[in-house]
This record gives sequence, C-alpha cells and structure tokens, in this order.
Amino acid sequence: MTVADRVVAYIGLGANIGEPRRQLQAALQEIGALPKTRITKTSGFYRSAPVGHLDQPEFLNAVAELDTELSPGALLENLQEIEKSHGRERPFAGAPRTLDLDLLLYGNETIASARLTVPHPRMHERAFVLKPLLELDSVISVPGKGLANTFLSACSSQKIERID
Ligand code: ATP
Ligand code: CA
Ligand code: CA
Repeated sequence: MTVADRVVAYIGLGANIGEPRRQLQAALQEIGALPKTRITKTSGFYRSAPVGHLDQPEFLNAVAELDTELSPGALLENLQEIEKSHGRERPFAGAPRTLDLDLLLYGNETIASARLTVPHPRMHERAFVLKPLLELDSVISVPGKGLANTFLSACSSQKIERID
C-alpha cells in the first residue's frame, strides 16, 4: 500500500425527518468506522431551507472530509448502506429523508457512470454544500468547475444558518 492509494474525499450529509441531529451524528460515527477510512475534519451543522421540493421541513446539513482507501464505488455502496440502516426511503425525487449521504468530491477525480457522478453534479449550486465545505477548506476546487468559493454568491437567496 502506497500513500498514493489514499484519497481525500468529501461527503455531504443531510436529514430533515426523524431526529436529524442524532442521525447526522450517528452517520458521522459510522462513516468514520468504515474500513480503510477515517474522518479528518467535520464541519459545523447548518440549518437550511429546502430547495427544489419546498413543502417539507428544514434540513440539517454538514460536510465531512475523509481520508480513504476505498474506491469511489465502494465508498458510495457503504454510504448507501448507512442511509438504509437509518430508514432512508425514496418515495419520490427530493422527498424528505432521514439521512442523505452524497459523495461530493473524491480527490481530483471526475467520474461519470450510471450510478455515480463526481464531483456531485449539483454541489456548486447549493449553499448547504458550499458553506460547510468551505469551512473545511476555503480554497478548495471543484474539478471541472473551479474554486468552490466563487459559486457561493449565486446561492445568496438560499436560507442557511450555522447552528453550533
Ligand atoms: P441530489 O443528487 O440532487 O442531491 P438526492 O440526494 O435526493 O438528490 P438520491 O435519491 O439520494 O438523490 O440519489 C439518487 C442516485 O444518485 C443514487 O442512487 C446514486 O446512484 C446516484 N448518485 C450519482 N452520483 C452520486 C454522488 N456523487 N453521490 C451520491 N449519489 C450519487
Ligand atoms: Ca443529496
Ligand atoms: Ca443522495
């Protein structure tokens, strides 16, 4: 195993039904316990207004930075298992959720497969991703897009506040 096999990845966490704070805290622990993976940084928690499907409770969001040797596909599979264990259901697109775990960035890689697109294709349009992400790394780039902080001003109409 060489150092080059280790990748810095960023995960976006979200929840808006059940007990969002508990679900996010549990998910962080479970992500940190995944094989070949450790959490190196965690953002604060943010309360954000829903975007897209508006008629649902506000969200709790955070971003975690990982150091992982899992492949992107294996990482996504593990994240989906964690979502399932917290009762995630998908009755329709944008539905309220107990837990959503999105793979935002995986090193500098760009991936476009049927199951996985990295960078996450909508991350640069979302204050609830950009704010916690920039808290972890204020000069981070989104491969193929540019510096994350240049996208924040276009999200200024999205209501969001850091709560801790
Ligand atoms: P959005 O993707 O707009 O944030 P969502 O998180 O509500 O919406 P989901 O229902 O959780 O969408 O995911 C739908 C599918 O997206 C998943 O089954 C997964 O295969 C796919 N997907 C593609 N790229 C990613 C990614 N980077 N992270 C997580 N899932 C992804
Ligand atoms: Ca999502
Ligand atoms: Ca998702």
